Amino acid sequence: CWIVPSLLRVDDVSVSFGAHRALSDVELSAERGHVTGLIGPNGAGKSTLFDVIGGLRRPSSGSVFLDGEDITRLGPAQRAKRGMARTFQGLELFGRLSVRDNLLVAAELRHSGRDAANMVDGVIERVQLGAYVDRLADSLPTGVGRQVEVARALTTKPDLILLDEPAAGQDADETERFAQILRSVAQDGVAVLLVEHDMELVMGVCDEVHVLDLGTIIMSGPPETVRQNTAVLDAYLGT
Ligand code: ADP
Ligand code: MG
Repeated sequence: CWIVPSLLRVDDVSVSFGAHRALSDVELSAERGHVTGLIGPNGAGKSTLFDVIGGLRRPSSGSVFLDGEDITRLGPAQRAKRGMARTFQGLELFGRLSVRDNLLVAAELRHSGRDAANMVDGVIERVQLGAYVDRLADSLPTGVGRQVEVARALTTKPDLILLDEPAAGQDADETERFAQILRSVAQDGVAVLLVEHDMELVMGVCDEVHVLDLGTIIMSGPPETVRQNTAVLDAYLGT
């Protein structure tokens, strides 16, 4: 129903680094049950926008709303408590911990004891990581590490999950499996916001795609529409 607020709403956000305007009046929303894609060339401002959404960077102007609440002034930990989870462009797993323990550390942020362990078991099954639970994170192939990173974010039982280039380093089979995982996460009612360079993944998995170029959203729409727009392709390929 249209009067229910979007889970995430970015309202008129701008960010300047000195004289450089990294984001200009960005408007974007993400809905529960949807995978929302954010694409654009290197330097477009995607990671900066994630920093603003995640609370790592205050916008120069504009606001961020989570479930109707203005969270613009809240830090990352307060946003995490409200159900926001994020993965980073570089892998940030605890290398000397097993896959299971990496997930347990995250699960214990929101659950305790038996509940945390159950949560971890559920996510391991969902992300099909059973074969890797006892492996040290350091020893994983890159693509699997990416999936563990997403699994770790899921163990906090987020309402909104921000994924920054999760398919980087995944091979074709892993990416296909990963697409199914993203769909099933969204079907559970999570809002997924995906920054990704793999266009096949973006076009295959997203309900809606936003195109960012030079800090401005130049197009938003369903994947087919965005794909057909040659101006978008030019902006995307022009790097
Ligand atoms: P993307 O993730 O789309 O590749 P970024 O958000 O990383 O883009 O960067 C957007 C723009 O902001 C780029 O021009 C980048 O050089 C600049 N930028 C990013 N972070 C900083 C920073 N901490 N200080 C100054 N400029 C930055
Ligand atoms: Mg980036």
